[in-house]
Amino acid sequence: MKSRAVCWTQFTKFNAPDGYKMSRCMKCGKEYEADPFLNGTNEMNVHMRKGCGDEKGTTQQLLNLGKTGVQGAGTLTNWKFDQEATRKGLAYMLIVDEKPFKFVDGMGFKYFMSLCCPMFNIASRRTITRDCFAFYSEMKDKLKRFFQICE
Ligand SMILES: [Zn+2]
Repeated sequence: MKSRAVCWTQFTKFNAPDGYKMSRCMKCGKEYEADPFLNGTNEMNVHMRKGCGDEKGTTQQLLNLGKTGVQGAGTLTNWKFDQEATRKGLAYMLIVDEKPFKFVDGMGFKYFMSLCCPMFNIASRRTITRDCFAFYSEMKDKLKRFFQICE
């Protein structure tokens, strides 16, 4: 096991629900595929140099024009961007709307996301696939517990 690369001072290793090797930034929580043979450490090194933006701490003030009536004055509301929650929401959408995993690679989808949620880092198709399976097993466990209670 050679994991002496500099990035391992900032990343921890863990296994995805399907056993795939992953790493997570200890500062901002961003996750990378970290199979030593397939992925290498390049992405993590780039993240350390300039990508780590402490995403979890980001709170944005957004102009809410939703319920202001005809005056359109707008009100400032606090809305916190959550990369993890957004990723989970994407997995939810793919499942519920019966979209193929390749949907996330679509140019139209990427353009749409760049407009409505530019800070969202759209994960690779493989990561999204894993998110969907993780979501599936989470829901399955919930259902199992639900039926145990009903018995
Ligand atoms: Zn980071």
